[in-house]
Amino acid sequence: MNFPWKTKGIVLTAPLSEEIDDVIKFIDEYLAPRGFNMIVIQVRYRYQFKKHPEVWGYDPLSYEDVKRLLNVCRKNNIKLVPKMNLIGHQSGFPNEPTDGILHGHNEALDDIPDGLLRAYPTFDEQANEKKINYARSICLSSRPAKTVVFELIDELMDVFEADAIHIGCDEVFNIGLCEECSKKSKSELFANWINSINDHVKKRRGAVLMWGDRLISTKETGYNRWEASDDGSHSAIDMLSKDITVCDWHYDKYEKYPSVDIFANKGFKIMVSPWRDENSLEAFLNYAINNDKGHINGVLMTTWCGSGDLAKRLLYGEKGRWLHTEQIATTIEKTFKK
Ligand SMILES: [Zn+2]
Repeated sequence: MNFPWKTKGIVLTAPLSEEIDDVIKFIDEYLAPRGFNMIVIQVRYRYQFKKHPEVWGYDPLSYEDVKRLLNVCRKNNIKLVPKMNLIGHQSGFPNEPTDGILHGHNEALDDIPDGLLRAYPTFDEQANEKKINYARSICLSSRPAKTVVFELIDELMDVFEADAIHIGCDEVFNIGLCEECSKKSKSELFANWINSINDHVKKRRGAVLMWGDRLISTKETGYNRWEASDDGSHSAIDMLSKDITVCDWHYDKYEKYPSVDIFANKGFKIMVSPWRDENSLEAFLNYAINNDKGHINGVLMTTWCGSGDLAKRLLYGEKGRWLHTEQIATTIEKTFKK
């Protein structure tokens, strides 16, 4: 497809250590020639934080790994943006084969806490619940949690020499539940937390990107409960700082994508983020192209398979190991040509 926008981005998971060479080659020989100029790298806790080694996630990237990724991106004029997830997605289960991250689940289960809540169980919004739905969240009233989060942001932006960070904040289903948080509305909790992160990042002359699903309502938009909020958090859209870039993701096929218009009317810059299904991708991107009010910065393709898995499929034609890798790869091949 031809895009009228300057930024062509892709989200990749932080490579597993045995696949980092493949991912570097993939950036250099596959993504760069196809005009990708932004990579958002899903790190979460998969970095060897020096200040907080207690939060290290699965197979964390080393300082040298990050510099190698940064070098190949710089050589190709690709902006590299680290990504964390700074409200929800704090627990889950690994995919098989693993992509290094923990994924949400649709039943109440005794799941695995990710780095931050494993190290600091008191930061958990549901610290006393053994089984929870989907994924745990950070308690947004916890001052100590905020202190650690800010230190992680600083270290990650420093090592990536980044002028932007993607803070996730998608699919937050567990919010406003503890005694302190329940005194506030979900939208207020959500907006205050994100605004304070944004203020912190701005002080270091950085920019914040986040997912947009909690800022739009299922009722108003017709989107499902993953792509939009059904618990009232969407009112946060009116309280959030307008200098945050919203990544508007949709994976299903709809006649209209009203979020594209909603974010424009509220004064946000957005990136449009499709996934693996080619028909949905086309419907979404065509709607965005036809309804761009000058507020769309670009496309941010999502993948959610291991970056090494995708690299080996697209570089060498190897069979993808995860159930969706083949479809993701095929859609990328068709959509992003040299
Ligand atoms: Zn709380």
